[in-house]
Amino acid sequence: SGANGAPAAELVVDLDAYRENLRVLRELAPASQQMAVVKANGYGHGMVPIARAARDAGADWLGVARPEEALALRSAGDDGPVLCWLETPGAPFAELVEAGIEVTASSAEQLEEILAAAPSRPRVQLKVDTGLSRNGARFGADWSALVRAASRAQESGRVQITGVWSHFACADEPDNPASAEQEAVFIGAVDELRGAGVEPGLRHLSNSAGILTRPSAHFDLVRVGIASYGIDPDPAVRFPGVRPVLTARARLAQVKEVEAGARVSYGYRWTADHPTRLGLVPVGYGDGLHRTASNRAEMGYAGRRVPVRGTICMDQCVIDLGELPARRGDLVTLFGPGDDGEPTAEEWAQAAGTIGYEIVTRLAGRWTRTYR
Ligand code: PLP
Repeated sequence: SGANGAPAAELVVDLDAYRENLRVLRELAPASQQMAVVKANGYGHGMVPIARAARDAGADWLGVARPEEALALRSAGDDGPVLCWLETPGAPFAELVEAGIEVTASSAEQLEEILAAAPSRPRVQLKVDTGLSRNGARFGADWSALVRAASRAQESGRVQITGVWSHFACADEPDNPASAEQEAVFIGAVDELRGAGVEPGLRHLSNSAGILTRPSAHFDLVRVGIASYGIDPDPAVRFPGVRPVLTARARLAQVKEVEAGARVSYGYRWTADHPTRLGLVPVGYGDGLHRTASNRAEMGYAGRRVPVRGTICMDQCVIDLGELPARRGDLVTLFGPGDDGEPTAEEWAQAAGTIGYEIVTRLAGRWTRTYR
């Protein structure tokens, strides 16, 4: 914060919008439970406030990648269902199980590791790799080995299998046949588990995009990340009725008049062709902006669009205010819901050559987060 309490760079998180988005998404998958995915610091929005808002909105589950994220939720007082899915050797399985967190077994070996570490009968979900080739036991020999291990452990009362799940590779491409293929493999994997005498518990496959593009794959639960933050997974998959949760804004550190011919920022990659007014925005790639958006992105100022000029630096970047009567200390909006003409995170993604996910998740460092 500055001396007068006004932060130089602020992320304003609209928790009402987030809660409302979850309600909208629930209506799109009304027969399924809802897992709010809050990993990676709530996609940059702040994990704990987002998690609380998710519970307020009735989210049945919270989903995180790493054990430390799950334990941080417990430390913050959350005591509802949490699933964690990316555990490396030596993960604190005992602590996780004691904290009532459900963990994911992606191989027979990993199931054994969990059982060896767990103080009591752990609740474990089984992950099958249906094509993405990330974590999960590959359908085929690896999955069969995990199914056998789960069946044995269940028979001896050492484990409670509470779910079976997988993850889409191409759900954001509406016409890609990969999703149907993965769904078929998933159904086969569930059948195999049942055939081994293990009730699958919660079956889940869908992320945000799958809610729209693959209704047959909602199963018992859907895992909603990006759409809950009001960002579309892809320009081809547009969610009706959700709105962006995050507004990124900053105060101008300096405003200056420059002459035609003035060259701007490292590498002199932009030159003014007429006199103009430049504003210095005190955020840069050290705060998570994408340098690839140099000379391409825009910001909002007083209801108008103003372009970023030249190279985005580590701590700062320059915008072209033209004739606008801007002053040091004025607010500029990097991105937000677009209500006041500012770009959205999706537009920044376009400018940076990436996806909306990366725009919000990378926000780090020196931002003040404000919740309303
Ligand atoms: N499920 C898993 C396993 C994930 O890794 C993620 C995020 O990448 C999600 C669900 C949420 O995906 P999305 O943000 O596309 O809704």
